[in-house]
Amino acid sequence: MAQINGATENGLSGAAGTGVSRGPPVLPQPVRVQEILNTKIFINNEWHTSIKGKTFPTFNPATGAKICDVQEADKADIDKAVSAARAAAQRGSPWRRMDASSRGRMLTRLADLVERDRTMLATLETMDTGKPFLQSFFIDLDGSIKTLRYYAGWADKIHGKSLPVDESVLCFTKHEPVGVCGAIIPWNFPLLMFMWKLAPALSCGNTVVIKPAEQTPLTALHIGALVKEAGFPPGVVNIVPGFGPSAGAAIAGHMGIDKVAFTGSTQVGQLIKATAASSNLKRVSLELGGKNPCIVFADADLQLAVEETQKGSFYNAGQCCTAASRIFVEESVYEEFVRLSVESAKSIVIGDPLDPRTTHGPQIDRKQYDKIVALIESGKKEGARLECGGGAALDGTGLFLQPTVFTGVQDHMRIATEEIFGPVQCIFSFKSQQEAVERANSSEYGLVSAVFTRSMDRALTVSAALETGTVWVNCYNALHAQAPFGGYKMSGNGRELGEYALAEYTEVKAVTIKLSETL
Ligand code: ADP
Repeated sequence: MAQINGATENGLSGAAGTGVSRGPPVLPQPVRVQEILNTKIFINNEWHTSIKGKTFPTFNPATGAKICDVQEADKADIDKAVSAARAAAQRGSPWRRMDASSRGRMLTRLADLVERDRTMLATLETMDTGKPFLQSFFIDLDGSIKTLRYYAGWADKIHGKSLPVDESVLCFTKHEPVGVCGAIIPWNFPLLMFMWKLAPALSCGNTVVIKPAEQTPLTALHIGALVKEAGFPPGVVNIVPGFGPSAGAAIAGHMGIDKVAFTGSTQVGQLIKATAASSNLKRVSLELGGKNPCIVFADADLQLAVEETQKGSFYNAGQCCTAASRIFVEESVYEEFVRLSVESAKSIVIGDPLDPRTTHGPQIDRKQYDKIVALIESGKKEGARLECGGGAALDGTGLFLQPTVFTGVQDHMRIATEEIFGPVQCIFSFKSQQEAVERANSSEYGLVSAVFTRSMDRALTVSAALETGTVWVNCYNALHAQAPFGGYKMSGNGRELGEYALAEYTEVKAVTIKLSETL
């Protein structure tokens, strides 16, 4: 049972900046979690043990301590979850018969419950991922709640068109739910990515089978309890903690699943698409890796560019598909940009993620940590200049890495081409706009990019030329529930968020009615 020993909601609003002056803001504090209640498989609004009786541990990456054991779903449990989801998606089921406006109200109720449990969910997220508590509280929880509220609003606004076709017929389209949607969630933003998939799927009237990442199942499971409390009919939401090659692959290949949404590595995304194609050709949306370029022109507000690109490189210990990993800086301001960036990287506060002063936590696990260290070593060997960081932080205890800045990076080096998924910033210099754009685009990825300049003309010209699904101008990681997110090239297929995501979760049906007279 989690017990709250922290700030009140009033204190939280003060901290969030309501503009009302009530003395110094009271920062939210993590709760003291004494026992994790929700550790089983959530199917049909009930908690189930694994059919094969298997469990797996989840660890706190900041301490290495086991938090708890979780029931492990594999193929048989996925079959059970899909049966529940199929029954709930049947024409005539309570969910399918529900008014669209009631569906919206139910999503609003879920958002209210997430808001009620915000401090506890932020604490669980920090324990399971190692991300700093205030980031969990203000970024992940805020984004999750806003995503639910945004799609709650869409539920009764999803409609087709009447079409002026030839001949004496009436033709109109209807946007219907796809059916059962599978979702496979990564470990870097466990709750937020869960909501990016759950909210539009439910808004469009689908049912879901969602697998959280094996490293971070806890916040997803807590949402199971809230789904039940909100009053969703049984089988609408099913949450199946388990491993990728077993539970994840069973979702991707299941004949009873109509669509799968995935966020994770490009390699696994390719596997999922192939599995989906060779089973029932289910629809697939993929949000994959990135090697995201930022272009800083000499006319930019340099301090702003340093702050935003560092936020891009080091946010969530660099474990972001949006990580700003290639920073191209115009030659005349390069030296100054590097000086300010190194100064800024050295001031980052590394420590206990549950301490609200911490801004930089550990990497998620040993495998990721070792991969990042190997890439840093490759950078050194290939001749890049290590300006700061480059190794373990906090005297080597735990999985903490120092924010690392490389200069003198060549475009062909591994650190310039491979996704690092760690706190490593590579700074390059460029001479001309054309050169910067060509180098920025010379990647197999195309997720996000950023441009820093005071010239609106240049911002528009360069953003038109960049081959990425998102371009940020004079900002970074500016994600909003209303704006679509997704990648060009090997960064993925389809879009999440915004009105665009509704297309991923609806089938369009054209109905044509023969008329005896011309209308
Ligand atoms: P990472 O390599 O960063 O851990 P992954 O892409 O492997 O990222 O993992 C993201 C999600 O994909 C997790 O939920 C994981 O369990 C799942 N996953 C991993 N392998 C597979 C697979 N073969 N099929 C389906 N899902 C998978």
